[in-house]
Amino acid sequence: MDPLERALRDIERALGDEAFQEGVKRAARHAEERVPHILEEHPYLRELAREVRRVKEEVLSNLDHYIEEAMESLGRMGARAYLAGDASEAREIVAGIVGTGKTVVLSKSMTAEELGLREYLESLGNEVWETDLGQLLIQLEGGKPMHSVAPAVHLTRERVAALLREKLGLRVPPGTSPEEMVRLVRGFLREKFTSADVGISGANAIAAETGSIVLVENEGNIRLVTGLPPVHIAVAGVEKIVPTLLDALKVAIVQAAYDGLYPPNYINVISGPSATADIEHKRVRGAHGPLEVHVVLVDNGRRAALRDPLLSEQLRCIRCGRCQWECPVWQHTANLWGGPSYGGPMGVVWTAITRGVEEASGLALLCLGCARCDYVCPVEIPISRILRSLKARYSKRITRGV
Ligand code: SF4
Repeated sequence: MDPLERALRDIERALGDEAFQEGVKRAARHAEERVPHILEEHPYLRELAREVRRVKEEVLSNLDHYIEEAMESLGRMGARAYLAGDASEAREIVAGIVGTGKTVVLSKSMTAEELGLREYLESLGNEVWETDLGQLLIQLEGGKPMHSVAPAVHLTRERVAALLREKLGLRVPPGTSPEEMVRLVRGFLREKFTSADVGISGANAIAAETGSIVLVENEGNIRLVTGLPPVHIAVAGVEKIVPTLLDALKVAIVQAAYDGLYPPNYINVISGPSATADIEHKRVRGAHGPLEVHVVLVDNGRRAALRDPLLSEQLRCIRCGRCQWECPVWQHTANLWGGPSYGGPMGVVWTAITRGVEEASGLALLCLGCARCDYVCPVEIPISRILRSLKARYSKRITRGV
């Protein structure tokens, strides 16, 4: 089915779904109120966002150099680094490390979604569990994440209770509070964390200079995914590379702030497998954390997008999701508009980068052109202008009949 037709069919259904509309509206209203308040309380965040923009521009102007530096640094820290040209290569690399018949715990990663990693690893006979609560609910529902950082934004507490009851067999009678549901899921996932063979995470940023992966979170699941299993695999788009560890921390801080969750509960820094120097002060790898760390850097259209003056601007994106919260179209469609993994205004552009302009350009027609996304983006991506250019490319294609 044509991507635009599919999106329209799904959106039509969602427009008639009162619970979906209410869930998205409530979450968007909270986020819209929270972010300006955070920025007012902590004025240095705006300057940090400008710094992140500058850092990202520097990296994108010399991306191959930074990829090389990051891979060398990761290797120096004892991690194994890979560069995957496309989604299928990335899946094969991860599958080669994981193997079959394993238990895998995943922390929320839009790059993993882009690669279809969970489904692929399951098809190879692995037991795979999402550990971010929202993402676990999406796994149980069999849908796609509805926001970059709040994937289950469309689910009411009643629907969550039903999913936990029906799909996990948890005792969740009607009227169970969200606190109690979180406690039950915590108990369920605890056993998965401790028995997992492999933990897979994304990355908010990777420091080229030190080979460090930085991950920001609130639930604490990333700490367990990246700390408990003997093998940790991180998958990240090549645009996540920044020059230094300090830059990487700035990305994490800005991402949390513009997502409306500031300060974040945790920022994790991972520089290779766990190590100790407690015997004769000699560094030995493999202490309490993973014995192996693998980092799969994913291109999948990103370096080609660098040659496009408009698509290349999207590569500065830190996936804070603020353009989604603010978009009047997204507030009704959530990520049903945008493509198979990404969604909203930024999602259409990411679909163009990772799956091709042809697939994304029709989806751009749903943009109203209000440009609210441009005004709120911390790294000043001209999203509405990129969408306008995608619409023009679509019209050209249609009028030429190709
Ligand atoms: S495009 Fe800008 S506002 Fe939207 S997710 Fe990316 S960084 Fe955030």
